[in-house]
Amino acid sequence: MGESNYIKVWEECLRIIKNNVPEAVYSKWFKPIIPVSLKDFTLTIEVPSDAYMRKLEEEPLIDILKKTLKRVIGEKVKLMYNVRVLSNSVLKYEHQTLEGPQNKDINIPIDDKEKMNPFVIPGIQKLNIKPGLNPKYSFENFIEGNCNRLARSAGETVAQAPGHNPFNPLFIHGGSGLGKTHLSQAIGLRVKELNPDKIVLYVSANVFKTQYQNAVVGNMITDFLHFYQQIDVLILDDVQEFTSKGTQNVFFHIFNVLHQEGKQLILTSDCAPSSLQGFEPRLLQRFRWGLSAELLQPDYSTRVKIFKAKSANEGIELPDDVVEYLANKVTGSVRELEGTILTLMAHSTYNKESITIELAKRVTKQIVNVESCELTLEKIKTAVCEYFKITPDMIVSKTRKREIVQARQITMYLVRNLTKTSLASIGSQMGGKDHATVLHACSTVSDLMDTDRNIRGYVADLERQLKPNK
Ligand code: ADP
Ligand code: MG
Repeated sequence: MGESNYIKVWEECLRIIKNNVPEAVYSKWFKPIIPVSLKDFTLTIEVPSDAYMRKLEEEPLIDILKKTLKRVIGEKVKLMYNVRVLSNSVLKYEHQTLEGPQNKDINIPIDDKEKMNPFVIPGIQKLNIKPGLNPKYSFENFIEGNCNRLARSAGETVAQAPGHNPFNPLFIHGGSGLGKTHLSQAIGLRVKELNPDKIVLYVSANVFKTQYQNAVVGNMITDFLHFYQQIDVLILDDVQEFTSKGTQNVFFHIFNVLHQEGKQLILTSDCAPSSLQGFEPRLLQRFRWGLSAELLQPDYSTRVKIFKAKSANEGIELPDDVVEYLANKVTGSVRELEGTILTLMAHSTYNKESITIELAKRVTKQIVNVESCELTLEKIKTAVCEYFKITPDMIVSKTRKREIVQARQITMYLVRNLTKTSLASIGSQMGGKDHATVLHACSTVSDLMDTDRNIRGYVADLERQLKPNK
């Protein structure tokens, strides 16, 4: 039978299996399998979960499967599993024992077998979990300066001996655009370079949160936990986004398991562990176990280095006086420095201008203007009122009407997350509430976002509207 016709091949297998096992076993364990491909005698099948695959790998099911595949596809057959873990990822496993002769090459002393962990299925080898790393975020591209030296060198230590160093977890914190994502990914890339077999996973807290929510809805928590417990180096970016208790708890659990097994954790956040709001004390305590290292705004000499290196990367050479001017004028985050270079380049390319101090002056002026469009409580309040079609005095009134209360809470939540307004000031501007009321409103909204799709949608819409480029 031709390899391209893997569906037919699988149908033939099913026909044989059906004749050899009880109907109930057939419909429970074989019928749900979806054939994926057949190439070079390797049949890939998709199974609903990890637990399902483990069951298939046990006697007597594996026996039936093995015999049938050999008969239909040939002695050389190999079996691969795609396990649906979470909506957006499949785990791939290889079953090796199907291929008889190859086993003989593996030299395992007999008595070692007895010591094997009973939970490790022999013959199954984990193939790959995509680490989610961007090759451009390497250590080589991460410019060193006083502003990041401690964090950078801690990162290098961690990458050399993940899990076996004093910095576990490594907690990297700092303002937006200062290089948290870049540095944490650099560690992951370096680990992969030195140890390609280590399972590294970079995940943003928001993605983790969504995966968890999907796992709850799909009744797949066990698979979710199992997936995360296999990671050797887990990089969790922007942990400050974990505002709900549900996500915090599940992460606490994963953290403990990984830490106990000597796996490395790397966390990033926009503030120090001690300033993380709304976090459970036991979680904060864990975060302080290792090292917390801060990324600071680049100082003058680092800014010079960054302007030089990044422009060279883009294939342009900035005159020294321009570099000096920019390094004096643009004093924000690394992301802003990058933005400045890109704008400069765009101007010089489209207008065929050479890059001079004059051009640099015009460009930096625009950047400063852009920055002054800061979000304020007023702007957010107006946007929320328009969105829910209510008036500004309704939102600050004392009414307990459900829609109004909800709009009011969402406003406080957004102001808290998108501006630096203090709790007390939010409270007083929202109709004379105290800071505890504001805190309560914020946690109500984040809890609701975990469970209520509508609320999640409202908040996402509003955030998009208020911060279009975030
Ligand atoms: P954060 O995650 O802290 O918001 P990012 O890691 O996304 O910041 O960094 C913003 C941009 O600045 C990225 O393009 C990153 O490559 C760059 N960047 C940050 N720090 C450095 C550095 N030390 N050297 C080179 N590029 C950097
Ligand atoms: Mg980031």
